[in-house]
Amino acid sequence: MKAEEEAFSKEKEIFLEHIQKAGLRRTSQRDLILETFLKTEDHLTSEELYWLVHKQDETVGHTTVYRTLKLLTEAGLAREVRFGDNKTYYEHHYDQEHHDHLICTECGKVVEFFSADIERMQDETATQFGFTLSHHSLRMWGVCADCRTHEIEAVTPPGAQPKVRVKTGYGNLV
Ligand SMILES: [Zn+2]
Ligand SMILES: [Zn+2]
Ligand SMILES: [Zn+2]
Repeated sequence: MKAEEEAFSKEKEIFLEHIQKAGLRRTSQRDLILETFLKTEDHLTSEELYWLVHKQDETVGHTTVYRTLKLLTEAGLAREVRFGDNKTYYEHHYDQEHHDHLICTECGKVVEFFSADIERMQDETATQFGFTLSHHSLRMWGVCADCRTHEIEAVTPPGAQPKVRVKTGYGNLV
C-alpha cells in the first residue's frame, strides 16, 4: 500500500536523524531491524524481534536488536509497555492513536482499546486530586473469550493451569 510506504519513509527519516544526532552510523543491520519492527503489528519483546530479524539475517546479534529498539524508543518511534510478566514489550509509537490494554492471564493475548468515557473519568479523577495528567497507562487483566471457552470445555479447577497439557508416555500416539 502506498500510504503505508509513505508512513514508513517518514519513520525512516526520523530514525536516521536520531542516529546521526547520537553520533552513530547508519548500518544495514539497523535498517533491517527498523524495517522488521515497522512491519509488525504486535507488542513484541526484544527477543521476539530478534527471531524475526534472524530469519532474514543470521549475523544480527541480540545486543544489536536490543540497542536498536532503545534507539527507536528514544526517537519516539517505539514505546515500551509492560504487561506484568516482567518482560518489556515494544509497540509502535509514532503517529499512533492513544490506547490502553486488556491482557489475558491465560494465553497472554493483548487487546488494545480506547474508551472516551474512561479517558474522561481519569482526567476528572486526576483533577479531583489536584493533578494535571501528563500521561497514563491503563492495563486490565482477565481471561479472554477464547480461553474462557476452553476452560469450560476442559472443566479445569481454578488456579493457574498449564496452557497445553501433554500426555506422558508413548501409548497414545496415533
Ligand atoms: Zn487511556
Ligand atoms: Zn486468552
Ligand atoms: Zn498497544
